[in-house]
Amino acid sequence: MKTSLALPVTKVEKSKLPNTDFSNLTFGRTISDHMFVADYKNGEWTEPRIEPYAPLSLNPANATLHYGQSIFEGLKAYKNEKGEILVFRADANWRRLNESAERMCMPQLPEEIFLEGLVQLLELDKDWVPTAKGASLYIRPYMFATDDYIGVKPSDTYKFIIFTCPVGNYYNKPVSVKVETNFTRATEGGTGAAKTAGNYAASLYPALKAQKAGYDQLLWTDGKSHSKIEESGTMNIMFKINGKIITAPTNTGTILKGITRDSVIQLAKDWGVALEERFLTVGELETALNDGTLEEAFGTGTAATIAHVERIHVNGADYTLPQKNKDAFSNRVLTELDGIKYGKIQDDHNWIIKI
Ligand SMILES: *Cc1c(COP(=O)(O)O)cnc(C)c1O
Repeated sequence: MKTSLALPVTKVEKSKLPNTDFSNLTFGRTISDHMFVADYKNGEWTEPRIEPYAPLSLNPANATLHYGQSIFEGLKAYKNEKGEILVFRADANWRRLNESAERMCMPQLPEEIFLEGLVQLLELDKDWVPTAKGASLYIRPYMFATDDYIGVKPSDTYKFIIFTCPVGNYYNKPVSVKVETNFTRATEGGTGAAKTAGNYAASLYPALKAQKAGYDQLLWTDGKSHSKIEESGTMNIMFKINGKIITAPTNTGTILKGITRDSVIQLAKDWGVALEERFLTVGELETALNDGTLEEAFGTGTAATIAHVERIHVNGADYTLPQKNKDAFSNRVLTELDGIKYGKIQDDHNWIIKI
């Protein structure tokens, strides 16, 4: 991509690269040298710049720390065989960031600032994009309130930052999930469709309880009746029952509109695979588990791409799902998406931005 915004760049004095062990990356723990920063004040975004990744200085009265006006995104960059850097669907992340911003009374961020900041940051830190199979550079754009006083009202000032982390293959092992019918992630009228900090804070307690009981993740149900399957903590969820893929619709405002989810739906359409966007009820799930018509269950999200579900807990009973099978739909979409992301398969949908 050609860039046109002249960004001031302050480089690190000494890169952390020589001291980074790329063969031993824990997700989100290793952070690249630089970050992109822009500040919102007096009604506009100002001073877009690239700086060394370093601690921020915040006033103790910072509005985010008290009232949680904070939103984020997650996307990935990949290195192809020629060593070029490819980013998957960054424009969709920009759009979703602005949808979250709207819900949280935060300012819209122009596409130019998001994309130019991202591209120029990736150009500078290109050596941080790993080359190992299944590895990538996780990109974390986020925006938060920076007003310095106590009072529940939208902040007048904000900061937008992008930093990046080299990551290995995340969740390459199958996951076990528990259908949660007591706690709630999102309700109609709430903030479930926004990628906003508080949603994740509220999910920690029930998720920890499930982890203590031996499950990796929760499958959330609707907040009103707890009878409809919604999604997982950081992934949307899809089931294949009797040859048909079923995934929750996104028109209730309770489901995070995953870009991986959208990509899988597009591939199913391309291939003529039947897919329904509707709520699967907990009862239907139990029936399909009991009568053997549940063929596949998998999570979709940027971090994991496709996570095969191997065990589901529903209403006091544990069910083991069919083994991961190379002809499965989930495996086919994983191979296709990886092929597109690493530049090995033609990108028919204009999903890739080449840096
Ligand atoms: C980010 C996220 C997803 C997945 O979205 P992708 O764009 O596919 O990464 C799904 N559910 C929740 C709650 C999320 O936060």
